[in-house]
Amino acid sequence: MTGGLEGYDAVAEANAQKSVLAIHWSRICERLKAEVGEVEYRTWLRQITVGPVDEDEITLYLPTRFLRDWVRGQYGDRLGTLWNAEVPAIRRVELQVARPGSASATSPADGVTVPAATTEAREEAVPRPAVPAPVAEEPRHAEVRSDLAAPLDPRFTFDTFVVGKPNEFAYACARRVAERPSSPGFNPLFLYGGVGLGKTHLMHAIGAELLREGRVSVAYMSAEKFMYRFIAAIRSQSTMEFKEQLRSVDVLMIDDLQFLIGKDNTQEEFFHTFNALVDAGRQIVVSADKSPSDLSGLEDRLRTRLGCGMVADIHATTFELRISILEAKASASGVVVPAKVLEFLAHKITSNVRELEGALNRLIAHANLFGRPVTLEATQDVLHDILKAHDRRVTIEEIQRKVAEHWNIRLTDMSSARRARAVARPRQVAMYLAKQLTSRSLPEIGRKFGNRDHTTVMHAVTRVTELMEQDPAFAEDVELLRRMLES
Ligand code: ADP
Ligand code: MG
Repeated sequence: MTGGLEGYDAVAEANAQKSVLAIHWSRICERLKAEVGEVEYRTWLRQITVGPVDEDEITLYLPTRFLRDWVRGQYGDRLGTLWNAEVPAIRRVELQVARPGSASATSPADGVTVPAATTEAREEAVPRPAVPAPVAEEPRHAEVRSDLAAPLDPRFTFDTFVVGKPNEFAYACARRVAERPSSPGFNPLFLYGGVGLGKTHLMHAIGAELLREGRVSVAYMSAEKFMYRFIAAIRSQSTMEFKEQLRSVDVLMIDDLQFLIGKDNTQEEFFHTFNALVDAGRQIVVSADKSPSDLSGLEDRLRTRLGCGMVADIHATTFELRISILEAKASASGVVVPAKVLEFLAHKITSNVRELEGALNRLIAHANLFGRPVTLEATQDVLHDILKAHDRRVTIEEIQRKVAEHWNIRLTDMSSARRARAVARPRQVAMYLAKQLTSRSLPEIGRKFGNRDHTTVMHAVTRVTELMEQDPAFAEDVELLRRMLES
């Protein structure tokens, strides 16, 4: 990368790398924020500036040595994992000291300068203080003493939560708890479901609602944070203070309880806190990735108590819910995203809401950045990597086999001429799924179903869509098949 024309190319390439990294970084920041909470994020992580990538290592800058060491100790591994998940080629994260925007933020090696080009930075467009506020002293004390009042993400409210079949029960329970905390039957409230389906969102919404009313004190923290605080309290011999603080709140919310599996002492402490609070008529809200009975590794007595109140499951999203969520988020962003694009995303990204949101955010960021309208083509381009990762590679044969098994018909009937409904309906479902889950064209699909015409496939797609709207049991069957094929 030296001299003349090559140098010019290097600059162009560096700029391209810069914008790509900025997009990845803004996604990582979103995740970090969701994981650690707004306050923690603002205090420590927002100071990070993205530097260059060298082979499998990315350099991140922090403005002071203190911050660098703190971030390395607390988040070093996590940053590595997140970067690797975003960009598999990146395997290591190097944290260095350099003030954002200063000359030292330029890597001397290859001349790539990457200012804090995160969405955050763009949104705010205010220079950050040269010396971040919390740098003052001993972090550990600040941590232990810090107020238990929760760092709630202001975006996570009931208003911004899109309700659909998979989450309506959990939503109703959360609302109920926010309206009348500590009602019998709802204490504890145990929310569970897979990653990125809205557990944290609902907990924050409960917190926001209660705080808005201003009637109660709320403490929200992840189980990890709970453990961290507990251990820090032991170290600084302030466990009494810690206990008192916790036991003085009206509503305690602990997120991702599965983290406590195998952490016996912390579990024990949580159990006692839990009992003390419930006995005193306070509300507990807990989330986990599994139901209490499936959380093996948690102490039995804790599991039993956790299951004593209301247990609400958040199911995997349906296509309809994904569409509603995308519509809500797109309209909030102010960027016009055509229905076609939303449908495309809802079909392609089925894993969870976080991924879906991430994809949409990137599209929106792109549209804002380049001032170009969002089209299907641009979407495929901008989300190339995400879509590739979600490419299901399901074959039509697989679909036919699974569907035939499901309705107990012969595989050969998928291509036979028989028109009996018992055969024709499953065949239509298989065509519908082939259209949804593969990139085959209608004529191609038709050929695989006994050389049928593409209009027959089109008819099948319309018919199945209609039936799914009319008949929830049928819709569930089809969704189930889809999920099986996707996994
Ligand atoms: P979990 O805690 O279950 O892993 P989160 O609550 O962090 O998931 O949700 C991941 C992201 O998806 C968040 O940005 C959240 O706002 C969003 N999200 C999840 N479910 C919904 C929903 N029903 N409506 C709107 N946004 C949602
Ligand atoms: Mg969560």
